Amino acid sequence: MFNQDTICALATAQGIGAIGVIRVSGPETFPIVNRIFKGKNLEKQLSHTIHFGTIRDNQTIIDEVLVSLFKAPSSYTREDTIEISCHGSDFIIQKILKLILREGARLANPGEFTQRAFLNGQLDLAQAEAVADLIASDSEASHQTAINQIRGGFSKQIAQLREALIHFASLIELELDFGEEEVEFADRDDLRQLIFKIQQVLIPLIDSFEMGNVIKNGVPTVIAGKPNAGKSTLLNRLLNEEKAIVSDIAGTTRDVIEDELFIEGIRFRLIDTAGLRKTTDTIEAIGVERTLQQMDKASLIVYLFDASEIQLTEIAQQITEFNAPYILVGNKVDKLSATQKAEFEATYPDILWISASENKNIDTLKDTLVRKVKTREIKSGDTVVTNLRHYQHLLQTNGALENVLEGLAQSVTGDFLAQDIRFALHHLGEITGQITTDDLLANIFSKFCIGK
Ligand code: GDP
Repeated sequence: MFNQDTICALATAQGIGAIGVIRVSGPETFPIVNRIFKGKNLEKQLSHTIHFGTIRDNQTIIDEVLVSLFKAPSSYTREDTIEISCHGSDFIIQKILKLILREGARLANPGEFTQRAFLNGQLDLAQAEAVADLIASDSEASHQTAINQIRGGFSKQIAQLREALIHFASLIELELDFGEEEVEFADRDDLRQLIFKIQQVLIPLIDSFEMGNVIKNGVPTVIAGKPNAGKSTLLNRLLNEEKAIVSDIAGTTRDVIEDELFIEGIRFRLIDTAGLRKTTDTIEAIGVERTLQQMDKASLIVYLFDASEIQLTEIAQQITEFNAPYILVGNKVDKLSATQKAEFEATYPDILWISASENKNIDTLKDTLVRKVKTREIKSGDTVVTNLRHYQHLLQTNGALENVLEGLAQSVTGDFLAQDIRFALHHLGEITGQITTDDLLANIFSKFCIGK
């Protein structure tokens, strides 16, 4: 055990609720709670049992509570832990916390329970970070990836790769001990094969980051098009609410409006923009400038045009300026004849025809949005990297492995190989927390809320 303090905190959200749960963890947990609890003698009860009783300040009853007992190491923190479920009033909760403090515990720092779980070997770092993601998850997909990560899918793979590499590192280090003598314990072909195998795991993980990022942070999606194409109408339609001003006067959408739309658990951060056109109006010019900035940040562009009004050449010119995947959407299909549609389709067979105002084909557009994002089908259970820190270490690892391969190709000496392998091992270890600095830990755990 690293920590001798007994800590306590409210584990449920602050504010009035039906119940509040106070968590106490550390070596003095049982004696401390026992002194303020009237009911059975908690120190004599079995782990994983729940008991009814009262919390008392001397003779005054504060609340009737249930206490759940977890004895080390069978608890989240692997320390003795008690969870007190009391009535969810701020007054009662404060009163009970104060009693626990008076009996010798201290208030937990943000994330300290999870930090202890990590330090006591219950979770590795990737799992602990996933706890933070889980608490923050607000869509089905982000919840699923966080759960998978906590259950260790991601970390296990990394740990196995690291094992295999350590084996080779030690063989090569052994060669170095022999100095001048030309010995090769580490078979170079086997090493090359191992690196290929590692990369087969590493590269999909690296690739998954883009998808993971989508899940965690959403897809910035710009709805672009000339004024009056129907962008605001479409945005309203998608969001089912009157967020943007719809008007008949060209160029009325002056500012950038951002909103969120969840389709099949994926979060689209929809950005409506001032119309794309050259303008002399200064306020509108600012809007157009912002549109261009937003377009740069977009991962997906919905290019909307009014087919009754636009020339094919305008579309051609516009799409050369996009540097993200785009969907060509022809709006106001209600105004078009079949021949007009056919003309456009001859050049752009992929056009999706909709009517924003008449709610035609909006569901097809939603499906298309999802399909564009799901370049790689994520099945539940698939490993997805969502954390920037992990992603960076994976990249570093892969870079080091590339160096090893290059070194092998050029038959460099063992000490050069050893250096790159050590580098790769270091970065893999950073992900699971086998190698960490105190600063990094403090940084990661400070992002948690108190009580987690
Ligand atoms: P924006 O400038 O691109 O944001 O365009 P708006 O959403 O303000 O729409 C411009 C005009 O086109 C408004 O009068 C809308 O009612 C109209 N409009 C939008 N969608 C359709 C559609 O599908 N069919 C028809 N006929 N008119 C539409």
